[in-house]
Amino acid sequence: MYIGRFAPSPTGPLHFGSLIAAVASYLEAKTHQGKWLLRMEDLDKPREVKGAANDILHTLETFGFVWDGKVIYQSQRTEFYEHALQRLKSQGLAYPCTCSRKEIADSATSSGIEGAIYPKTCLKHAVKPNTYAAYRALTTDKNITFSDEIQGEISQNMAQDVGDFILKRADGLFAYQLAVVVDDAAQGVTHIVRGADLLNSTPRQIYLQQRLRFATPHYAHVPVANNMVGEKLSKQTFAKPIATRPPGHELFDALIFLGQQPPAEIKNATLDEVWRWAFTHWKLINVPSMRSICVSD
Ligand code: GLU
Ligand code: ZN
Repeated sequence: MYIGRFAPSPTGPLHFGSLIAAVASYLEAKTHQGKWLLRMEDLDKPREVKGAANDILHTLETFGFVWDGKVIYQSQRTEFYEHALQRLKSQGLAYPCTCSRKEIADSATSSGIEGAIYPKTCLKHAVKPNTYAAYRALTTDKNITFSDEIQGEISQNMAQDVGDFILKRADGLFAYQLAVVVDDAAQGVTHIVRGADLLNSTPRQIYLQQRLRFATPHYAHVPVANNMVGEKLSKQTFAKPIATRPPGHELFDALIFLGQQPPAEIKNATLDEVWRWAFTHWKLINVPSMRSICVSD
């Protein structure tokens, strides 16, 4: 049984970068006779843009995506994240931290893939009283290695490359890393196809899966669209929504970006015909590991 998913964050309208993740995960699921689930990652309320969630769903419908079951909203699932955190805490795998950003920057002695490694101050000393605490995952000198279907073998040392990462912020928001692991397990996701901007997060997620005794899904990280200055094509750097051109053209371009070779004449065919071509010819093996595109306007 194949269960795939698409998990957009409603921080803006669907853009070309997220369309690529949607198209790749959808075609991979459909060509394996699998399910394709949709999850709205709306945990970070301060970053959410009003109306973006509905806007994304509407755009997906316009493109002809058909998802299985009801859309799941992370904002309605905090009890499950709390439960997972409790399980980690009771095993001594998560601990409270009251350090400020500045204290961490001043006391850190090593850096990893995302900057300063947290020096475990709050593990060694009492936390500050009357201060909201964040929760961190206890990491050990353990290598997490996995084989990505597109990016090949990826390995990280949890303590040296990542350190004790945040599971719940001091303001009460659960971190993406914990929520995504809890939800992928709850939804029975077997295959994750998503943007390579999340490649560095995957070892943290596998680490949590192992600690929570969840199965580890298969991973395939598709290239992330870069603009000419090499910035990730994200809602921040490229706010232009994709709904401005005929969906068939956008889908055609997404397929090209994903290394597929649709014949030029179908670019002007109907959206249905582009999808039909894609269902018959989609091959994950043709997806390149990296790519850049030129964004002219
Ligand atoms: N919500 C994340 C994003 O939009 C994707 C999470 C995932 O696919 O694991 O970047
Ligand atoms: Zn601390």
